[in-house]
Amino acid sequence: MSSTTEFDSMLVTHIVGGQQIQMSLADKNRYIKNQTNPEPIRLVMVVWKDNCQFCSEPQGPSEALYVSTHNHMGFISCPNCLEKMQETYNHWMENFAYGDAKELLGRKIRVLRSNGQFDDDWELHPNDAYVLIDEDGQQLVNCKKTGVDVTKHCPVKLLFEWNS
Ligand SMILES: [Zn+2]
Repeated sequence: MSSTTEFDSMLVTHIVGGQQIQMSLADKNRYIKNQTNPEPIRLVMVVWKDNCQFCSEPQGPSEALYVSTHNHMGFISCPNCLEKMQETYNHWMENFAYGDAKELLGRKIRVLRSNGQFDDDWELHPNDAYVLIDEDGQQLVNCKKTGVDVTKHCPVKLLFEWNS
């Protein structure tokens, strides 16, 4: 079952061309709908038929490609625009996935736990490339403890401090 959550009201931003537009995810989804270069949207409470970010008159069952299966962020396409969606997805993953933290991808990283201890066996979440922006404009990326289902959104700035 899909439902709106607290996540939908978090402030997010486009990380495109240095533009820092902050808005709620719900507003962002509406804003993005008419863009020529679509951004990932929250694929919760969406209609999986005649729905497409890439054309104005979609028909038929819709498909998705996720940049975050964790938070259901991704692209949605009608049957006619699958190739365009794949290109857009590839371009997004290459240029915007994990924001400034991308260079930490594939490495074991050190993360400060809430108990004040450092753990050395974390990684950027392999299934969540979507970057959140907090109220101070800081990038947050989802991190995951290797081998277990423990995750935490960490400020990118702190990740670089912890891993320098
Ligand atoms: Zn389409």
